[in-house]
Amino acid sequence: MLNTKLTKNLAKCIWCKNAVVLRFKPMAQWNLAGDGYLCGDCYQKKLAEYYLTPDRRNLTKQSNRNA
Ligand SMILES: [Zn+2]
Repeated sequence: MLNTKLTKNLAKCIWCKNAVVLRFKPMAQWNLAGDGYLCGDCYQKKLAEYYLTPDRRNLTKQSNRNA
């Protein structure tokens, strides 16, 4: 089947394991397996998680207080 062949050649998302057409390289800070790619959905989720982590919020608060 042509579809199976295509899917085989596609990279797999290292998060959801689905074949990805549009590959997104994860940021090093996300601590994901080094040489893989994410699908668009997982990339967006990870991106949102990364920018909404409590740690970063605290950092921002602190720097605001100092300023
Ligand atoms: Zn994914």
